[in-house]
Amino acid sequence: MSTKATPSKPRAARPCPICSKMSVDRFHPFCSDRCANIDLHRWLGGNYRIPSREPADFAESEVERDDGAED
Ligand SMILES: [Zn+2]
Repeated sequence: MSTKATPSKPRAARPCPICSKMSVDRFHPFCSDRCANIDLHRWLGGNYRIPSREPADFAESEVERDDGAED
């Protein structure tokens, strides 16, 4: 008998795909709304400027800025 039921075990904690921090269930699979927005706008075009302060530990420039685009 093979009942395809969803596993009852809790969601495995995965690192944030943006900054590799531990993801938070609230913003799964991201660690914060900031990273969720970064990923979202990456998909939407990537030339979006995140209207939030940049944390010091966010050293890697994951967000590609389109220097040629101006709004
Ligand atoms: Zn993150």
